[in-house]
Amino acid sequence: MSIRIVLVETSHPGNIGAAARAMKNMGLTELVLVNPRYFPHPDATARASGADDLLDNARVTASLADAVADCVLVMGTSGRSRAIPWPSVSVRDAATRALSASRQGNVALVFGPEKNGLSNEDLDRCQLLVSIPTDPEFSSLNLGMAVQVAAYELRAQQSESLPAFESEAPPAAAAAIEHFHAELEALLLDVGFLDPDNPRHLMRRLRRLFARAAPDENEINILNGILNSVARDRRARS
Ligand code: SAH
Repeated sequence: MSIRIVLVETSHPGNIGAAARAMKNMGLTELVLVNPRYFPHPDATARASGADDLLDNARVTASLADAVADCVLVMGTSGRSRAIPWPSVSVRDAATRALSASRQGNVALVFGPEKNGLSNEDLDRCQLLVSIPTDPEFSSLNLGMAVQVAAYELRAQQSESLPAFESEAPPAAAAAIEHFHAELEALLLDVGFLDPDNPRHLMRRLRRLFARAAPDENEINILNGILNSVARDRRARS
């Protein structure tokens, strides 16, 4: 199943090319054009800069209904609030929903014409309205840039499910971490950074920091090695 980008009645062919480029950068391939004013057009090809295959494969339809007929989820993007409130989500939530729905069927993200955006009739065809957060005083993005932001959100959330970075060593065991914290505390007391009469939450904060870092065996060995050589050096100097 796929996530398609639908551009409705685009006036400037350059924006079609910019949208194709934005899509290809983010790994989207399916572009549908509803009644474009000019297409194909040299400006579209120029702005696509290398994403010509998306333009060549773009499907042109006479209506939005035709463009989204086979979709299980249709979402319309809009830069302004509407007379009638419509169920709305941010572009980030829209990407989450799109990725999840695309496991069941095709999904469409619909973008309106440059001048007036999607008509209310077009919005009727959309289950959800999607907005890109902006300064409310200046909320309308260029069409190609709006496609870029949406395509990026899809990409970013797709890569989140990629396998996490694999460390070359196993995670450090609790005992090794405890040893490190004991040595660190001893050193901080010794150098006077940790005041035993007023320890505050220093050791807890440091624990939290290292817990977040989740050191592996090699890394905790390096940290212990640093503490050992500082301690040895101090003994040698005293
Ligand atoms: N003047 C129009 C703006 C059209 S911009 C209006 O006020 O609606 C062209 C298209 O880019 C919009 O139809 C929408 O699909 C998209 N777009 C622009 N800004 C957006 C935003 N802040 N959030 C979501 N989509 C946006």
